[in-house]
Amino acid sequence: MSFSLHGVAISRGIAIGRVHIVERNQLDIAEYHLEVGEVDAEIERLHAAVALAKHHLREIRAHIPSGTPAEIVAFIDTHMLMLDDAAFNDEPARIIRDNRVNAEWAVKLQRDSLIAVFEEMEDPYLRTRKDDVDHVVDRIFRNLLRHPPLRHELPDQKLKGMIIIARDLAPTDLVLLQHHGVAGFVTEFGGPTSHTAILARSLGIPGVAGLHHARRYIQEEETIIVDGDDGVVLGGADERVLLQYRKRQAERLSYVESLQVLRDAPTVTLDGRVIHLYANVELAEDFKSVREVGADGVGLYRTEFLFLNRSTYPDEDEHFNTYRQMIDALGGLPFTIRTADLGADKMPDVGVANIPFAANPALGLRAIRLCLREPSLFWPQLRAIIRVSAFGPVRMMIPMLSSVDEVHQVLDIVGTIRNEFTRRGIAFDPNMPIGGMIEVPAAAICADVFARHLDFLSIGTNDLIQYAVAIDRVNNEVSYLYDPLNPGVLRLVSTTIGAGRSAGIPVAMCGEMAGDVRYTRLLLGLGLTEFSVHPAALLEIKHIVTHTDVRHAETLAEEFLSDSRLERRRELLQALETGAL
Ligand code: PEP
Ligand code: MG
Repeated sequence: MSFSLHGVAISRGIAIGRVHIVERNQLDIAEYHLEVGEVDAEIERLHAAVALAKHHLREIRAHIPSGTPAEIVAFIDTHMLMLDDAAFNDEPARIIRDNRVNAEWAVKLQRDSLIAVFEEMEDPYLRTRKDDVDHVVDRIFRNLLRHPPLRHELPDQKLKGMIIIARDLAPTDLVLLQHHGVAGFVTEFGGPTSHTAILARSLGIPGVAGLHHARRYIQEEETIIVDGDDGVVLGGADERVLLQYRKRQAERLSYVESLQVLRDAPTVTLDGRVIHLYANVELAEDFKSVREVGADGVGLYRTEFLFLNRSTYPDEDEHFNTYRQMIDALGGLPFTIRTADLGADKMPDVGVANIPFAANPALGLRAIRLCLREPSLFWPQLRAIIRVSAFGPVRMMIPMLSSVDEVHQVLDIVGTIRNEFTRRGIAFDPNMPIGGMIEVPAAAICADVFARHLDFLSIGTNDLIQYAVAIDRVNNEVSYLYDPLNPGVLRLVSTTIGAGRSAGIPVAMCGEMAGDVRYTRLLLGLGLTEFSVHPAALLEIKHIVTHTDVRHAETLAEEFLSDSRLERRRELLQALETGAL
């Protein structure tokens, strides 16, 4: 039977392959009563299952290919540490003894009481810990029930060319899957701006998300087509359809290959305007691709990955050494380091006590607000950025600004640190540019005021859109409103670009909108001259830029901003997209 399911396109490309379904927490856990004489053996069985879980994790860790980001390895270490904890050893053993129940049931009771505590607290940080508890418990259950570990978590599995279907995937899963050579993936939850989606795009794995009940409709081992361009999944396709998609796949491949010639070409529009294309990076291994695609530098380095899955904040030297290596890898290209954007969807594992419960974490203590509240998090990072500015063209960027007072506070701290360094003879670049992200509507509206105090601006559309249209970017229910073309959003973008131009400072865009080829000409028409995109998208954007006449794009963009008739907007967008100017 053939079918087509529609989800959200989160990572471009076509994948055709057999399905492997990743099932978690679908295990049937039953309760058995034990005789007194059976208790000791049951506790032994528990300890053996926990030991085996640790063994599996050690195996995964040992087989992780070199070059795997340290953050991913740290994630596995966290699970190993949890397996050593009394919560997964002594406590379930006590339950077995006191209640005379089987080990599975004891682990389940312990899991339930841990989760209940987390849920009661309703702390977003603890919600992520809740997932870790489930992952660890799942491993113990599988061993007790003699189920094999999840296939993609084992080394050397034959997942090459397969398509993964899962309820949800963590960035760690995706990295493991990429090492297994999977062709594509489909998740029931998630959206285009989740970190898994961003990672999928930079790894170049086609993906569709938000496909509710995918696991109900799609069978293990059946062949499906994942269309990451249109967010569609097709099953039971006949030869004709398969052929059609294989052709599209081949065309895409040769198009991507043909783009390689652009690598060293200048990024100049048909009417002679020079455009700068920078790369967004998050993991150390992304830095290789910055030069491979011929980017002008790094326009956004998301430093929060340095803070995740660990029990202490990185100290000044760790920050410094990390940035230093990256400067070397960039060989003299500009390097924009964003100060930690922690909180909300990127919760650190440490310092949590200082982030009180928030009903709306995206509107709460995050990014620069959290940094200014927690000097032990912020100062070591600032000191390292200032120190490392002596070794290359570093730019510092502040996320989530909503009031100019925040800029003044940061500049005061920077001044204090620089004074100390001068006194102590520590080298730094006194002219290191300091810029800010415009991702809160209030900041976009007052971009001219920010522009007076900063050296550059960068528009973060991922957040700007969520705040402008009042939706949570990780909430599926309202994702249909997440529209970069919303006239309100475009006016904020246009205002910011205009403010930068009047102040004579550069304005870049580093949100996902900048890397989406559907909007390139519109953005050029709105006056954008700097794009920061994931490396996998850079050459495609360059192709469009070099085939655009900005004067024509400006005329169409102007009309697009002022005409709210849907039909006309669609025509204008199509005219911009196809280049039929
Ligand atoms: C943005 O908000 O557009 C952005 C680039 O930052 P992040 O996605 O890391 O919040
Ligand atoms: Mg942001």
